[in-house]
Amino acid sequence: FLEAQVVRLPDSAPQAGAVAVFHDLTERKRLEEVRRDFVANVSHELRTPLTAIRGSSETLLGGALENQHYAKHFVEMIARNASRLERLTQDLLDLAAMESGREELVKEAIDGASLADSVLATVGELAEERGVELERELPKESLRIMASRRHLEQAVLNLLDNAIKYTESGGKVTLALTEAEGQTRISVKDSGAGIAPEHLGRIFERFYRADKDRSRQMGGTGLGLAIVKHIAQKHGGRVEVESTPGQGSTFTLVLPA
Ligand code: ADP
Repeated sequence: FLEAQVVRLPDSAPQAGAVAVFHDLTERKRLEEVRRDFVANVSHELRTPLTAIRGSSETLLGGALENQHYAKHFVEMIARNASRLERLTQDLLDLAAMESGREELVKEAIDGASLADSVLATVGELAEERGVELERELPKESLRIMASRRHLEQAVLNLLDNAIKYTESGGKVTLALTEAEGQTRISVKDSGAGIAPEHLGRIFERFYRADKDRSRQMGGTGLGLAIVKHIAQKHGGRVEVESTPGQGSTFTLVLPA
C-alpha cells in the first residue's frame, strides 16, 4: 500500500482500482519469490544425495570394490541416498498433486479405531527400533470420520513419524482421537525435544526445518508437515501445534466431523 501511494495516476483513475491492481502485483512478486525459493530448495535437496551417490560409486570404481569392508560401506551409502531421493520425489509428487487441485478427494466413512490400528501398525517397527513407546487413546463410543482414507492415513503417519523421530529412546508417543462440537480431533503427542517458539510459526513451510542436522540424519525431507497442512485444508480442516522445548509437542488435525 505504501508503494501504491508513489504511483502517479491520472485524475480520472478510480483510486480503489489502482490500489487493488498494485496489491495484485505485490502478491505476484511474492509468489514469484516463493516459486524461486522452492526451485532453489528442490535443486539443493536433490543435489546432496546425488553427490553422495556419485562420490561413492567413483570411490568404488577407483579401487574400494577390492576391499569388502569399504565396498559394503559405499554400497550402503548409495542405497541410503537412493532411498532419500525416492522419498523426496514421492513427497514432491504428493505436494504437486494436491496443489494442482486436479486430485479429487474420495471421501468415505472411516472408523477411528481401524484408522488408529492401521497407522500404529505401520510405525510399530520404527518406534521399536528407536525405543519409543506407542500409546493410543480412543473414545468409548465408536468414532467415524468422513475423509479420504489414503490422505488421512498419510497425514497421521507423517505426524507419527516426526513424533517418533524427534523423541529420544525411553520416550512416549500418544495417538488420541476425540470428537466434540462437530469436530474430530486427531492428535499426536510426543515427549520429545519440542520446538522453540521462533520456529513454531514456520515449520509448516516447505523445506523449513528447526534442526537441519537432526532432520537430515533422520532422513527427513522437510516436506512432511507441508503435506499434512495441505491434507487438512483439503478436508476443510486445519492442523494445530503446541510445543514446549524440552518437554514435547502435540500436533492436532482438526476436521469437520
Ligand atoms: P522433516 O522431514 O524435516 O521432519 P517436516 O516438514 O515433517 O520435515 O517437519 C519440519 C520440521 O519441524 C522438522 O525438521 C523439525 O525440526 C520440526 N518438527 C516436526 N515435528 C516435530 C516434533 N514432533 N518434535 C520436534 N520437532 C518437530
